[in-house]
Amino acid sequence: MDASNSTIQIRIERASTAVPRLIFTAEFPSHEGFEAQLPTWRPGRYELGQFAQFVFRMEGQDLGGSWEALRKTDLHRWFVPAGIQTVRWEFYADIFNAGSTGIGDDIVYINPVNCILYHPDHQDWGYQLQLVDVPDSWKVATGLPMHNGLLIAENVQHLMDSPILAAQSLWHETYESNGVPFHIWAYGKNLPDAERFVKEHRAFTDAQIAHFGDFPAPHYHFIYVLPEREVRHGVEHEDTTVIAQGPSAKCQTEEGHMELIGIASHELYHAWNVKRIRPAEWTPYDFSQASPSRMGYVAEGVTTYMGDLFLFESGVVDLAGWCRLMEQLLDRHINNPGRLNLSVADSSYDTWLDGYSPGVPGRKGSIYVEGAVLAFLCDVRIMQLTGSASSLQTAMRLLWEQVGEPRIGLTESDYWSVLNEVAGAPDALEDLRRDFADGTEDSWDSLVAAMEWQGLALTKSSENGRWKSRIEPK
Ligand SMILES: [Zn+2]
Repeated sequence: MDASNSTIQIRIERASTAVPRLIFTAEFPSHEGFEAQLPTWRPGRYELGQFAQFVFRMEGQDLGGSWEALRKTDLHRWFVPAGIQTVRWEFYADIFNAGSTGIGDDIVYINPVNCILYHPDHQDWGYQLQLVDVPDSWKVATGLPMHNGLLIAENVQHLMDSPILAAQSLWHETYESNGVPFHIWAYGKNLPDAERFVKEHRAFTDAQIAHFGDFPAPHYHFIYVLPEREVRHGVEHEDTTVIAQGPSAKCQTEEGHMELIGIASHELYHAWNVKRIRPAEWTPYDFSQASPSRMGYVAEGVTTYMGDLFLFESGVVDLAGWCRLMEQLLDRHINNPGRLNLSVADSSYDTWLDGYSPGVPGRKGSIYVEGAVLAFLCDVRIMQLTGSASSLQTAMRLLWEQVGEPRIGLTESDYWSVLNEVAGAPDALEDLRRDFADGTEDSWDSLVAAMEWQGLALTKSSENGRWKSRIEPK
C-alpha cells in the first residue's frame, strides 16, 4: 500500500508573532468531508484539558489554493469540507510544564496530544512530522523514530504519547540496563550534578527491571524541562517521560535534586503500571471525551508508593529517607478529612471534575496520597500472609504478565483477584478493598499496625492545628 494514502503529513514552524505561536500545516490523505478532532484531554491528567482554547485560527485550503476558515461542529472539532486536504492552524506556544507546548529562540517543545488534529474515523493513519525551522545542528529528544528528517508516528495512539523536545543546546547522558538504552536529556540554564544524577537513575532503573523481569520498550527517554518559571511535575509515556521543574536552579539544591529523582522513579514505574497495566476505560485512550475510571488508586497510588519504595530498594535513599517520604504522604492523608467523605475509588472517578484543584473542602481524597496509603496496607498484608515470600510487587509483576504485556484492559475485580491470589486466599484483602478503596473508613489504626509489623513506630501529633506524622525504627 502506498504510505501516502494512510499518512498525515504535518509541517510545524514557529510564527513570527509577539505572542509565541506554532503554525501547523497538515495534509490529510482524504478527499471526502470529515470532522477534524483535537484531543480533549491528555493521559496522565485525568480531566478535560480544553486545548481548543489555545487555537488562534483554523483554516482549510480549497482546490483553487485559497484559504477559508473552518467551522466548528463541536468545541474540539472542525468540519473539513470535501475537496479540502490541507488544514492549517495556529496554536499558542508559551506554556512550559511536563505536558504542554512552548517555544523560544532556542527551543521547540511539543506535546502532540494538546496541539495536533486527528481523523476520528482513521486513527490507524500514521503521521510524518517535519520541524521546518529547526536547524540541523539542534538536538532532538523524543521516542519517535526519525527518517529523512521526518518524525514518524505509527498511528494516533503513538503520536499522542510522544513528546518532542528540540533545542539548540540539550544536556544528554546515556546508560544501559538489561540491554535497554536509557537517555537523560535536559534543557535549562542550570543542570543537576551529572555523575550523581546518572548513578541514581541507573540504580532505580536496575531495581525496577529486576522486579518486573524485563523492560517493556526498546528504549527510554527521561526528558527534563527546567525553565525559569515555577513548575514541578512529570508526565508518563510508553517510552518517555517529561519531567518539569523550575526555576532551574532548584535542581542544584538537595531538596530539588531529590524531588527530580523521586518523580523520575515514579514515572519509570508508570512504563509498566498505567502505560501497559492500564484500566479498561483507558484501553485504548479515547481522546474525544472524558473517560472516568475508579482505578486511579492503582494507576497513581500504587505508582506513588512503588516509586518511593524503589528509591529505598535501590539504595538511593536509606530507611530514614524512606520514612521521611512516607511521612510526607501521611501528613497529606491525615490532614484531609475529604478521604472520610468520598472513597478513593469515587475520588478517582471524579478527578474529571476537580481532581487537580483543592476543590470543596472536605469532599474528596487524593488518588496519589490515599492510593499510596492503600498500596502500603496491601503490601504489608500480602507480606504478612506469605511470610514475606510475596509482596504487592509480586502482584504487579503478575498483572504485567497477565494484562500489561498482552494489553488487556484492567478491571477492578481483576486487580483485586490478583492481589488476593498472591496473598493466598480469595478474600485475603477483601476488608482493605471494602474499607479503604470503596469505603471511607479511617485507616490510622491499620497504618500503625502495619508499620509496627515492619519494625517501625508510627505516631502523630498536632502542631498549629495540623497533624504531623512521625515514623521511627522501634
Ligand atoms: Zn503518576
